[in-house]
Amino acid sequence: MTTDSTRPPHIDTSKAHPARVYDWLLGGKDNYPVDEAVGETLPPEARDAARQNRAFMHRAAAHLAARGVDQFLDIGTGIPTEPNLHQIVQRTVPAAKVVYADNDPIVLRHAEALLVSHPEGVTDYIQADVRDPDEIVRHARGVLDFDRPIALSLIALMHFVPDDQDAHGIVRRLVGTLAPGSHLVLSHAAIDLFPELAEQVVAQYAKAGIRLGFRTRAEVARFFDGLELLPPGLVTATEWYGPGQQAPEPEDSGIYAAVARVP
Ligand code: SAH
Repeated sequence: MTTDSTRPPHIDTSKAHPARVYDWLLGGKDNYPVDEAVGETLPPEARDAARQNRAFMHRAAAHLAARGVDQFLDIGTGIPTEPNLHQIVQRTVPAAKVVYADNDPIVLRHAEALLVSHPEGVTDYIQADVRDPDEIVRHARGVLDFDRPIALSLIALMHFVPDDQDAHGIVRRLVGTLAPGSHLVLSHAAIDLFPELAEQVVAQYAKAGIRLGFRTRAEVARFFDGLELLPPGLVTATEWYGPGQQAPEPEDSGIYAAVARVP
């Protein structure tokens, strides 16, 4: 960890934070009344979306491990919720190395849970903001070999980065550091699947001081420009599963998801 771990991170319980609202949506306990209050104002579908998104992470990580991917850079990790990404991939690839990054001090506070690696592997955590991709990559280079394939996961992250903060440019910059044969795993809340619900969610987060940039399918597809989408392509979170994996229960979802390969 690069942050001074001798000082406990400052947790602001006076305003809602994305990681803690997401934790509440998943039924977790690492949130505060102010986060719960936001969660309560959201339509019940928001809880479905969080669960569906997390299940997509499980399937995508398991699929990449099955493909032999052994290096992961996971940005916007969230509060640890078992199974975490490294636990999924190290079941198949015990020596896998995982670097986690999130900008919320609450995630730093719980980071020990992310650092319990399989003895053959490595996990590492940096508190950092995806809007400073160079800092994250600089740190990750200390753990991961960027001359070899890496899976970059940005799962339910980029809708916290509106267009005026250059979301597409940030992803392009991160992907640009990856060797051929690397992967991008990305999920993202849709503005065009269930527009009324999406607008309600964006409005409630805005009231709590959290800006969201939900996107259309075409805007999400642009994150994958120049990459090769793995089957089944860019679909909803509940439609994505890897070859040989059990198909999830058919269910409406307001989350887009895909895994792509860097040529
Ligand atoms: N990837 C996890 C958690 C998603 S919740 C999962 O899919 O289960 C979104 C996470 O992104 C939160 O933990 C939040 O703190 C983090 N986040 C939001 N904006 C961020 C930013 N600018 N930089 C880094 N992390 C950010």
